[in-house]
Amino acid sequence: MGELRQLLDFTSSIAAEFLESLPQRPVLPALDVDELRRALGGPLPEETTSPIEVIAELARAADPGIAGMPSGRWFGFVLGGSLPAALAADWLTSAWDQNAGLFAPAPAAAIVEEVAGEWMRELFGLPDGVSFGFVTGCQMAHVTCLAAARHHVLAAHDWDVERDGLFGAPRISVVTGAQRHVTIDRALRFLGFGAAAVDVIPADEQGRIVPEALRSALEQTDGPTIICVQAGEVNTGAFDALDEAADAAAQHGAWLHVDAAFGIWAAAEPSLRHLLTGVERADSWAADAHKWLNVPYDSGLAFCRHPDAHRKAMGAQAAYLIQAEEHGPRDQLDWNPEFSRRARGFPVYAALRSLGRSGVAKLVEQGCAHARRFGEELALLPGCEVLNDVVLNQVLFRFGSDEETEAVLAAVQASGEAWMSGTIWQGRRAIRISVSNWSTTDDDVSRTLAAFAAAVP
Ligand SMILES: *Cc1c(COP(=O)(O)O)cnc(C)c1O
Repeated sequence: MGELRQLLDFTSSIAAEFLESLPQRPVLPALDVDELRRALGGPLPEETTSPIEVIAELARAADPGIAGMPSGRWFGFVLGGSLPAALAADWLTSAWDQNAGLFAPAPAAAIVEEVAGEWMRELFGLPDGVSFGFVTGCQMAHVTCLAAARHHVLAAHDWDVERDGLFGAPRISVVTGAQRHVTIDRALRFLGFGAAAVDVIPADEQGRIVPEALRSALEQTDGPTIICVQAGEVNTGAFDALDEAADAAAQHGAWLHVDAAFGIWAAAEPSLRHLLTGVERADSWAADAHKWLNVPYDSGLAFCRHPDAHRKAMGAQAAYLIQAEEHGPRDQLDWNPEFSRRARGFPVYAALRSLGRSGVAKLVEQGCAHARRFGEELALLPGCEVLNDVVLNQVLFRFGSDEETEAVLAAVQASGEAWMSGTIWQGRRAIRISVSNWSTTDDDVSRTLAAFAAAVP
């Protein structure tokens, strides 16, 4: 055991040194991909290498290709870093190496998910008795929720999709907005809905569905229907009118699914709760823990109002498994698409435990406050146009022409001071900032604004 302890101590100092170096490292280093291949590549080794040597060489060789994603100045996509408690719990999760599919062989993993799932249900203001699954990300949360939806809306038309499949089934209509996230389409594809089954309705200038368009699309559909709306558009942070969507869904007997990847966390902050008015009326909710809750990858959450449909869509039985009793603790494999799986409840539990309700609220409000400051101060730079209402943690902006916008973005990225990505918004180039990291400080925002000021011609 002496050698193992030495290895783990050595590894933890490499990890700590990396995290401590974030304020000085370029956020995304300039990449020499050939060099990276040379450093990491070579023939499949014939002989053994000691673990400590493997780790030392891996850390050295990978370093030039490791992005500062946990940095407070990473604003790309919608990422988030890792809260200290969540990172430490994630290490323990690996050391414990529980196969968390079933309750019986891994009881602590199951109970921790039971507890954390219920904590989040309460935090998000979802109804009592919703079921949930801890999945790899919002992508698989969509698959889980929409599989439950598929089951439920077909069962209402006397079709058992789990037994009889989709061939010959009543056709399901899917209604969704023009600015939906691409993972909705991908989930629908996985579930056997062709792209042609999707009825896309227009979005407004913030990316929100137009409620009248939703209503008139529904008037033209009959039969089983699923509506997919969004809480937190990936560029603007905008929220669809959830209450109106819930009214429309109720009127047409449709299933309402909410893509709330990061937006759901606004529920924790009283001043933002109004953005989510009506969210509790949906049938399913897909969210992420690895974005705004700041737990390590992979961590997403699927919630469902109809536990029976959820379980029928996901459940699995086999003679060799030891499955929980009817009223006993749940077996996770009945609620998510994986079979063998990581005990991903531990880091979520640790994050929630370390922050508490007030800490989650503060994390969210702090991200929004930084975003508002970006919005206000970027707008003062020559040629800068902020394109969205900064209602959450996302800021969307551009500088004059597409070429100018690209040049400013490239200069900021190359400075190493901060990293964010570009996008196309309403046909034109734009830059997007997402403030999702727990560790972003006022100084990080100042450094980033200074990098923009220096990049503007
Ligand atoms: C990130 C995101 C997703 C996909 O989530 P993953 O966790 O990457 O699978 C879906 N919808 C929205 C709005 C997102 O921001």
